[in-house]
Amino acid sequence: MNRGKKIVVISHCYLNQNARVRPYANKKGSFRELLEPLIENDFGIIQLPCPETTGCGLNRWEAVTEQYDNPGFRRHSRNLLQPYVDQLMEHQKVGDKIYAVLGVPFSPCCGTQHNPSNPDWGGPVLDVKVPPIDIVEGPAVFMQEFMKMAEEDGVKLDFMDVSDTEDMFPELQPDKILAKILD
Ligand code: SF4
Repeated sequence: MNRGKKIVVISHCYLNQNARVRPYANKKGSFRELLEPLIENDFGIIQLPCPETTGCGLNRWEAVTEQYDNPGFRRHSRNLLQPYVDQLMEHQKVGDKIYAVLGVPFSPCCGTQHNPSNPDWGGPVLDVKVPPIDIVEGPAVFMQEFMKMAEEDGVKLDFMDVSDTEDMFPELQPDKILAKILD
């Protein structure tokens, strides 16, 4: 059988919710509502690594974008991403179509169009009233680096967010995003 030549790139936790900051897994394992239609439509799926788990472990605290916005974490992100950019260059070279990179809209690392922000987060955690998060427009840290690297290497990618919660971002539910990809 010939290759289908259709590819979608997705954030790590859409296949493995165990990587999420606890208790922010929205599924027991995988995001079926996104994955099953992708499989049914014959997409090859590339799962990105989780920059937070690989950089900060599974006992990490919830964070905002400003806390990951530092040179060390950006370097960590680039190191993780390089083999994926290399692979995408190869796919592009042989004419495979990369339909989208699907990110996580409330993540300080993996949002592609939205990210959580508060410049005042940080410091001791005991007896502190944590100031509220704003969800602001724009890509988060890991995706910012991905966008820069793809541009540097001439890989053309379409970045968009998809949400695994029904109450947040109703416009980013998988059926709507899939319709956009297949349009
Ligand atoms: S860093 Fe990205 S892949 Fe990891 S849990 Fe957060 S959103 Fe998911």
